Amino acid sequence: MEDRFDVIIVGGGHNGTTLAAYLAKSGRSVCVLESRPECGGGQENTEPIPGFRIDPHATYLYGAAAPGFEQLELGRFGYRHVPYRSTAGLVTSAGEAVNLGSRWDPEIATENLMRVAPGSLGTGMLLGSLQGDLATELLRALFWTPPYPAELDVDPMDLPWAKVMDKYFSGMFKPEWLEMSLVELLDELLDYEPLKTLYSFAAWYCGAHPAWEGMALPALGGVLMFGHSSGSPRGGMHTYAHAIIRCALHHGARIVTNSPVERILVENGRAVGVELAEGSSHPGRRIYADDFVVSAVDVQHTFLQLVDGSHTDVSFRRRVSDISLKGGSLYVASVVCRELPRYGDGADAFPIEKYPSCVVVPCDSREANFFAQTEDVYSFNRAPLLEDDHLTMMVCTHDVYDPTRAPEGYHVLSPIYLEMPPPQYDVSGAAGVNRDKAEITDAVLRVLRTHAPNMTDANIEHVFVNTPYDSEFRNAGLTGGNWYAIRQSADQWFSGRPLPELSRYRTPIDDLYLCNQTSHPGGLCLMAVPYNLMHILIEDGKVDPGPWWYPAPWHMPAPAA
Ligand SMILES: Cc1cc2nc3c(=O)[nH]c(=O)nc-3n(C[C@H](O)[C@H](O)[C@H](O)COP(=O)(O)OP(=O)(O)OC[C@H]3O[C@@H](n4cnc5c(N)ncnc54)[C@H](O)[C@@H]3O)c2cc1C
Repeated sequence: MEDRFDVIIVGGGHNGTTLAAYLAKSGRSVCVLESRPECGGGQENTEPIPGFRIDPHATYLYGAAAPGFEQLELGRFGYRHVPYRSTAGLVTSAGEAVNLGSRWDPEIATENLMRVAPGSLGTGMLLGSLQGDLATELLRALFWTPPYPAELDVDPMDLPWAKVMDKYFSGMFKPEWLEMSLVELLDELLDYEPLKTLYSFAAWYCGAHPAWEGMALPALGGVLMFGHSSGSPRGGMHTYAHAIIRCALHHGARIVTNSPVERILVENGRAVGVELAEGSSHPGRRIYADDFVVSAVDVQHTFLQLVDGSHTDVSFRRRVSDISLKGGSLYVASVVCRELPRYGDGADAFPIEKYPSCVVVPCDSREANFFAQTEDVYSFNRAPLLEDDHLTMMVCTHDVYDPTRAPEGYHVLSPIYLEMPPPQYDVSGAAGVNRDKAEITDAVLRVLRTHAPNMTDANIEHVFVNTPYDSEFRNAGLTGGNWYAIRQSADQWFSGRPLPELSRYRTPIDDLYLCNQTSHPGGLCLMAVPYNLMHILIEDGKVDPGPWWYPAPWHMPAPAA
């Protein structure tokens, strides 16, 4: 193996491999070093029982608006999107079942929303936003635009997402929305509480708490991201990783697995390469980057372990160590069954040909369900109380639309998500959730059966669970089984993530950049961190992509550039 490349990327997860594809396509020589035996990081698939293919971590595509699909031509490299006729539904304790369909079949949503929330302003807006260019533009403005320089004072109406809203909803869009929380915005737009509850869960599972003031649009953007993609890669999330990796290899990138990096080499304040760990496939080997090094692992691993402390000042390291990587932990259950849950008013609620891939149940009110659960997890730092209203779950299945996921005659409900405190914060001890696994799983099945009586023992063939702890064991990058990488907090968005001075992916070390979910826009396999970083690399003269590249229309170069 050569020991000199233009660029070295540490970590071959979603963000590292995507950046490798971008840089290799731009003609740079790139080497990715991945510590595990396989690349992809949290984009994994497993078959815990032969024939049942589940995603232990990332499961839905949220990134349909990503320019990367087009720019990296992922279709050429094997990416196949399965469009789901219905992605979301909800079930109330009273047995009302609402199918929200998907962007691929807006009729389903129209029919159901007109039934439960006729004529409200929000219903019309939401139906409209499922189609057309609004979703793509709004989502790109929020997620596929580098954060503005932290030192710039930007008028809220000049924020990219405000401009997009103004363009599509002029007359209806009010500047006050920019100061609102999603709770307030939903109260203004909709008059059906279960739907507001579903949106609250969806927003929180995309990073923004619905009660945060001034975050209504980013939170709504999270909800829209799910709706805009409305599906998943055929065969599961790892096939998406394969398409990215094939693209990188096709353009000449070198990807080396079983190669944990021990140290990022810094000389005269400049990153010049890396040294592999003794236990790697090339023990102690030094590999040099003629141009720059990218750390695609989390910010603490980067600055507290890989970069020697003598190269950064003590107050910077203190600020990095003060960032909490804990939050957004998920308990993931999978249930192999013969029949899908028949919710609410029975077999007709969700007919198989338009069965919602993700059902939120029980979904009555924000007070009873959403706030009850988030208070347990984030205020009391405990697993949700094992009572029906505290155990609102996302019950997901892919096999209705993707036959590669389960053998004929079977279904696999996977994932069934429940929020959990990060293990290290759990008042019952770090191992608490693992110790109580059986009890929690029993409660999950009991609640499922309450709302879908056909989920009897005779129908269920297997149940397996990965707790946040198990997720961290599988993939050390997913601290505490946390999908979001950092504690979920309003200061961890845009120019604040992970710290203002690191928010544009540059670091205090010359020629060392960040490309991990700990940077904006955070968790999820969106190809957004590398796309945003490309803007900065172009600005720094590090890369000159071909005519296939197009930047974010809202990108704000640094004042000096
Ligand atoms: C339960 C759960 C559910 C989720 N659901 C979704 C979902 O539905 N949709 C979605 O898009 N996302 C989802 N996510 C989030 C998604 O998995 C992550 O945001 C994404 O995988 C992060 O990618 P990354 O490249 O930044 O980090 P990682 O995937 O953590 O990649 C980092 C890589 O670096 C490697 N590495 C670490 N240290 C070193 C070293 N010293 N040297 C070399 N290599 C190193 C690691 O082995 C790893 O492969 C979920 C996550 C969880 C935990």
